Amino acid sequence: MTERRRLGVLGWPVAHSRSPAIQNAALQAAGLHNWRYQLLPVPPELLAEVIPALPDAGFAGVNVTIPHKQAALAQADTATARARAIGAANTLTFSADGAVAADNTDAPALIAALPTAARGATAMVLGAGGSARAAVWALLDAGAAEVRLWNRTPERGRQLAKELGATAVEDPVAADVLVNCTAVGLDGSDPFDRLPLDRGALGAYGCVVDLVYTANGTRLIDAARERGIPAVDGLTLLIGQGALSFEIFTGVPASLEAMRAAATPTSTRS
Ligand code: NAP
Repeated sequence: MTERRRLGVLGWPVAHSRSPAIQNAALQAAGLHNWRYQLLPVPPELLAEVIPALPDAGFAGVNVTIPHKQAALAQADTATARARAIGAANTLTFSADGAVAADNTDAPALIAALPTAARGATAMVLGAGGSARAAVWALLDAGAAEVRLWNRTPERGRQLAKELGATAVEDPVAADVLVNCTAVGLDGSDPFDRLPLDRGALGAYGCVVDLVYTANGTRLIDAARERGIPAVDGLTLLIGQGALSFEIFTGVPASLEAMRAAATPTSTRS
């Protein structure tokens, strides 16, 4: 049987992912020279066939990104409570008999990256897609006092808020933590044009988190830093979730320094 030392990231498209560079740097830093982390471009219609084949192909585990996070959870034999509660998996591991275990490291990575304690904090989450689900759940699970949710499509926002115990709002309101979980900024566009956010009122937030990352950073993070507001960029979150997945895959901690050095952001996808 093939030695089980392969890792990868399942996505579609996934060609521009920074995860192989980040994860391979951490494998080298940990002395795990027989391990390799690779791109796994798989279209949605093939996912159900590909996942069960991965253990026999030598894979110990995989990360999962857009658009497969929900389908990956559905295919797993077991899942952590947080992956089930969020309804999405970004990490799959395979046992010797081929059983698939699902986890979600996006949620703990967000809480770990916050420059302020989540417990007792108020949060304003923008978006109602997959990453917003993880963010809302993570903040409430970490003891946030109140999580408010705004989404461009209000009904989608109301449904997510109701399901997870957040409060849907018609416009963003002041909070200790602002989390942008929309795709706005991915194409370099100005979030203050696309989102109901006032650049001059950014001081209403104690810290700003942007899940989006691009080669040149994002204008939301730039605006926060210009005003001296603590800010967490998307690359930091990508590294954070990747480091937690790395430890699940290999059993040893990841070198954040090695990951960050390898993460020269030349792309926009996780
Ligand atoms: P998703 O499930 O496709 O959700 C997209 C969200 O963005 C929806 O709420 C959508 O609103 C909103 N949106 C899209 N275009 C918009 C616009 N022009 N104006 C206002 N809202 C808009 O995506 P996702 O998985 O949540 O990911 C969101 C972003 O986070 C992506 O850029 C992704 O790359 C990034 N991300 C980063 C990390 C990381 O580790 N740094 C991890 C996960 C995701 P509607 O409901 O109205 O369509």
